[in-house]
Amino acid sequence: MKALHFTTPGQPLAMEDAVRSAPGPADVRIRVLAAGICRSDLHYRSGFPAVDSGRILGHEVAGEIVDVGPECKTRGVGDRIVVHYTVGCGVCTFCGSGRERFCVTGEMVGKDRDGGYAEYVTVPERNTVVLPSAVSDRAAAVMGCSSSTSLHALRKGRLAKGETVAILGAGGLGMSAIQLAFLLGAERVFAVDLDETKLAIAASLGAEPVDPNADAADVIRKAGGVDVALELVGSAQLMRTCIDSLNPLGRAVAVGLTPDVLSVGPYTDLVDGERELIGCSDHTLADLHDLMAFAAAGEFSVDPLIGATVPLEAAAVNSVLDDLAAGTAPIRTVIVPE
Ligand SMILES: [Zn+2]
Ligand SMILES: [Zn+2]
Repeated sequence: MKALHFTTPGQPLAMEDAVRSAPGPADVRIRVLAAGICRSDLHYRSGFPAVDSGRILGHEVAGEIVDVGPECKTRGVGDRIVVHYTVGCGVCTFCGSGRERFCVTGEMVGKDRDGGYAEYVTVPERNTVVLPSAVSDRAAAVMGCSSSTSLHALRKGRLAKGETVAILGAGGLGMSAIQLAFLLGAERVFAVDLDETKLAIAASLGAEPVDPNADAADVIRKAGGVDVALELVGSAQLMRTCIDSLNPLGRAVAVGLTPDVLSVGPYTDLVDGERELIGCSDHTLADLHDLMAFAAAGEFSVDPLIGATVPLEAAAVNSVLDDLAAGTAPIRTVIVPE
């Protein structure tokens, strides 16, 4: 089968033939109908975080089950599903409490094990969520990563009804986070980004855009400050803006990936005001189920955020990753194999 492989850091992904192995006893094989191209894939292609040479990338995957292992009980051929990309052992304390992200033998689809930049992908049955008919394949692919992680980040920030939120980075995660913040009861949501077009979309979702030429923390504080701030880009500087935007008892949640270091004043930033810095990595299976319920009820949609689709071709996908690096890509682009 056709599959896009990581080769070496900084080099384009390469199209190579891959073996389409039979699913294990508790696995399902999925024909990929849509695979989202994510900023994380850009990080993997560049070499941070490290990925093994020869890995098939693609962690945002929706598709149709075409084969099931003999021990599968809840899924069948023809089911339309989205992949929950965090594969745990299923028996340890973390897996037992629904936090398989921290399973010591855990693997991420499209990073630690082969993913969906391919015609087919195989994952454990328990790593699939059946799609409501209202959710398109391409929307499901995006929801499997950015939207579910946004929901997880808001929950990690313990967003409560009537609170205020700042969203730093109005991309795929940010646009989902704005909608979800309101669904969870946020009173006001501020959107921070350098891109005026994205700020306009954020405003159409109900967020208050912050002038990109202004000091965002200063603007937000003067407007009353926020209870929860999400850093979604991967910038130590924007994490600083999050902290500086918080009211007393506020929570700043770091979601974006960056090797940069943030300087924090234990007294000024944390003790005085009992502010909290919280890390958020990926999401849980429960987040993904809840997200699908929001979408099935017509309360949440990412379809307007998907700016383009591309075929499963090396040049097309590498070009989208280049555009993501240059900041010129649409909010979300999805691979639709032919
Ligand atoms: Zn992703
Ligand atoms: Zn485990």
